[in-house]
Amino acid sequence: MAAALFLKKQGLASVIHEAVAGPLDRVCGEGILPVGVSILDELGLKGKVIEAGRPFSGIRYLCGKYHAEGRFDFGQGIGISRHRLHHVLREACLLTGVEVIEGTPWRLDDSSAWIDARGLRPRGGHDRSLRSSRVGIRMRVSGPIKDVVQVAFMSFGEIYVTPTGNDTSSVAFLVNPSKMPAPTAWRSWLTDHFRQRFPGYRDAREYAVRAPIAGYGWPASTNAVGDALCAFDPISGAGMSFALMSAKLVASKWGSYQKKQLTRAMSSFGSYTQTLLAFSGGGWRSKLLVRQLGKNPSMFDKMLSQYDGEHGLSDLGLMNWLKLALP
Ligand SMILES: Cc1cc2nc3c(=O)[nH]c(=O)nc-3n(C[C@H](O)[C@H](O)[C@H](O)COP(=O)(O)OP(=O)(O)OC[C@H]3O[C@@H](n4cnc5c(N)ncnc54)[C@H](O)[C@@H]3O)c2cc1C
Repeated sequence: MAAALFLKKQGLASVIHEAVAGPLDRVCGEGILPVGVSILDELGLKGKVIEAGRPFSGIRYLCGKYHAEGRFDFGQGIGISRHRLHHVLREACLLTGVEVIEGTPWRLDDSSAWIDARGLRPRGGHDRSLRSSRVGIRMRVSGPIKDVVQVAFMSFGEIYVTPTGNDTSSVAFLVNPSKMPAPTAWRSWLTDHFRQRFPGYRDAREYAVRAPIAGYGWPASTNAVGDALCAFDPISGAGMSFALMSAKLVASKWGSYQKKQLTRAMSSFGSYTQTLLAFSGGGWRSKLLVRQLGKNPSMFDKMLSQYDGEHGLSDLGLMNWLKLALP
């Protein structure tokens, strides 16, 4: 939808084919990083998205007794439930005269120009930015609203708590299935872990599962956007921002500048994701990361400030983090 809106800005008409009819939901942490927000702003949708969601200004990591908080030094992130985000984008499409056909899966058609936005799908090969076979589970809770997305590194995976409204947060669990109990017991098992780690929240509801989130290959086509182009492990929280960024770049005139930016975004988000994956697992590596960042919040701010929509992304990978850590 974002790609169609950018095409419309250039005076180009497009038709959207969406397989699902009716309100669209997705198991997702539901946090959009500042770089993604700046793209929504270009579409004139930032105000609407803030109205339907909740801004946040940084990220807080937790592991065992350690915690660290980093702040974006430019702009804000926005937490918004996927069905609300879909509603805002869909309304904007309809208002600007983009045709939306829902309820029928689309197949590649040689007779017309197309952009593939079908999301994550098996396509052979293995994307190093994704950890194999993780299960995504989302629930919604009421309770204390924080100004940050909270990420707890646990032995079984991670828990992400994203503010999405004045009293509502979205909770996403990314779990290694081998560490989960039998399917009949996982709901109370996860809720118990969540309550121990994040006391004070209530009304766990609206569970949704997406399984498994496995390794997938490199893009089938450069006409693809979002996860269909390049999927990053959800640990980076970059998926929706990358989807928006790639929609803008793919829809713009396909020149070398855009291609360079897209490749840069892919490698920046990719190296950032891989660094986070290397430090995840809830063990000593996660503790080390969180302890070091906690001791040096300005370093954390600096890392996050690299999600800079104005100047593009710099390399968010391990080497850069080490450089930042060194005096
Ligand atoms: C547990 C979890 C937590 C996450 N947390 C975050 C987070 O906090 N922040 C973040 O930015 N990202 C997060 N992500 C990643 C994010 O969900 C994805 O990167 C993002 O959804 C990608 O958007 P997309 O539009 O490319 O694909 P999708 O959201 O997968 O959308 C693809 C669309 O294509 C439609 N479709 C599929 N096939 C067809 C067809 N043949 N014809 C027509 N339509 C079709 C589908 O119905 C769907 O609407 C998370 C992911 C998981 C699993």
